[in-house]
Amino acid sequence: MPVPHDYRSIDTASQPLSQAQPRIFLVGRPGAGKGTQGTRLAQRLGVQYVSTGDVLRKAIEAHTPFGTAIEKVINAGNLLPAELIISLVESCIDGDGYVLDGFPRTVAQAVAITSQASNSPPIAVEIAIPSNVALDRLTHRGRFDDDITIARRRLVVYETETVPMLNYLQSCGLLHRIDGDAPADSVEQSIWQRISVVLGSSHPTPAVIMPAHRNALSDVASLFGAVAAG
Ligand code: ADP
Repeated sequence: MPVPHDYRSIDTASQPLSQAQPRIFLVGRPGAGKGTQGTRLAQRLGVQYVSTGDVLRKAIEAHTPFGTAIEKVINAGNLLPAELIISLVESCIDGDGYVLDGFPRTVAQAVAITSQASNSPPIAVEIAIPSNVALDRLTHRGRFDDDITIARRRLVVYETETVPMLNYLQSCGLLHRIDGDAPADSVEQSIWQRISVVLGSSHPTPAVIMPAHRNALSDVASLFGAVAAG
């Protein structure tokens, strides 16, 4: 796949790859703002943004066999099987660095993605909001799976499946927690401050990069059929 922007050509020849190909996971309760922050962060870094939720909802809206198969699970507020979501994500990412929104969500998913061969250590950013704030935001958002009963279920699944994963990432020294109960611009600033430190000050600044934003959704259209058939 061609690289639509080449910030590595600016002054990165002598830098370790870990700074040129950031692998960032955005995690946090439903409604934490992962979509907003993930899009902004990917744009700043000039890397691919992949939201598993967006990919899955697109499949549902397109009424593909895969979409029909997963709709019930999503509408119940439950998670999809690990193998399915892991292969979906692997098909979406192109290895040039990425921001993942909504993945990993379980210990199994975290083990799978963190053990992938790569020169860059993964960076997990938790956008932390309390559950009452999450519930309030979800019930005002109006997405089809934001119905109060489904939203409550998703928050329970977050506690049982995702919190243990956060503990796992924390024990690996990969987790960075950001307060997400603040205006989007200030959350963006906090995330960027933390990411800049982790990546190192020599990482090109957004003003220098001016990256083209890429979206993985069009790249995976063909996958829906493949997953459903498999
Ligand atoms: P949220 O607002 O809950 O963070 P997302 O848009 O990320 O929502 O995900 C919507 C739904 O898609 C989830 O409730 C789940 O059913 C499914 N899903 C998304 N990511 C994953 C994942 N990594 N593993 C399993 N299921 C997932």
